[in-house]
Amino acid sequence: YAKSLGKNNFQFFSMDLNRRAQRRMDLERRLRHALERDELSLDYQPIVVLPSGAVEAVEALLRWRSAAGEVEPAEFVPLAEETGLIVPIGAWVLRSALRQLRRWHDRGWSLRVAVNLSVRQFRDPGFADMVGRALSEAGLSGAMLDLEITESLLLQEPDRTVPLMRRLRESGVSFSVDDFGTGYSSLSYLKKLPITTLKIDRSFVRDLVSDPDDAAIVMAILGLARALKLRVVAEGVETVEQEAFLRRHGCHYLQGYLYGRPLSPETFEAEVLHGRLTCRMAEASGKS
Ligand code: C2E
Ligand code: MG
Ligand code: MG
Ligand code: MG
Repeated sequence: YAKSLGKNNFQFFSMDLNRRAQRRMDLERRLRHALERDELSLDYQPIVVLPSGAVEAVEALLRWRSAAGEVEPAEFVPLAEETGLIVPIGAWVLRSALRQLRRWHDRGWSLRVAVNLSVRQFRDPGFADMVGRALSEAGLSGAMLDLEITESLLLQEPDRTVPLMRRLRESGVSFSVDDFGTGYSSLSYLKKLPITTLKIDRSFVRDLVSDPDDAAIVMAILGLARALKLRVVAEGVETVEQEAFLRRHGCHYLQGYLYGRPLSPETFEAEVLHGRLTCRMAEASGKS
């Protein structure tokens, strides 16, 4: 009996695996054409600065509306990384984000933009030149661009990574460590690499107010950043209580649904860039 059950389980399992492999292959095939079919777009999420609550920057977040429906970044970004498609897609993201920023600058909104980066892009020999070209095409200084990288990238090939980061840093580009605290725990890279900002992962922000462990971790990250003269962005801020805590403990920047979801450029302009956000934040923090 046990044997036959095991066999059935195996069949069930392998069928499930098959279906997943099938979906993956299907997605991969469609992802190869996503760029030329114009299925990719960017949403923009505001990043506000404390204490004023003004929108200081935006994070560009990639979206894929394929013929067969919207696919989540959590599903297609890893696929793009594994297949190498992230190199052309990532170049498109950077160029589009900077072009959009140019339009906003022309209308008097001098925001900065944060763009997510994959390890694979960083390893591409043409990467630094591509960034430089995208900046000059848009007529923007490197100081307007923030590249978000993950801890895993920082641990790879430091002999190649460090000079590349320094070169971009010299042109004014800054670097943020995304999802800080969720990756490898080696902190030595923080003193070796030209990083400007830590982004506290939203898993620590979520229960900040109710879970003393999360509160301790967030305070430790803020203390570390202060000592190392790094800026801090808290991700995933959804409540005024979280905001109050982060404000009290000296966090510099906030990002999350409380200030705005990722929005299309048109909606972003209509909803965010006309001052509404600052008012809401002042109310939320009890100031007038
Ligand atoms: P990330 O860079 O950490 O981006 C933040 C994610 O948190 C976004 O998910 C955003 O929609 C979500 N988020 C922001 N505020 C809140 C909040 O208050 N509550 C909650 N629950 N979530 C919030 P999204 O857009 O699904 O992106 C997921 C991940 O996909 C990103 O995480 C990033 O790692 C990756 N990604 C997105 N765009 C790109 C891209 O252009 N290139 C690369 N390489 N990766 C990208
Ligand atoms: Mg990010
Ligand atoms: Mg993040
Ligand atoms: Mg992430």
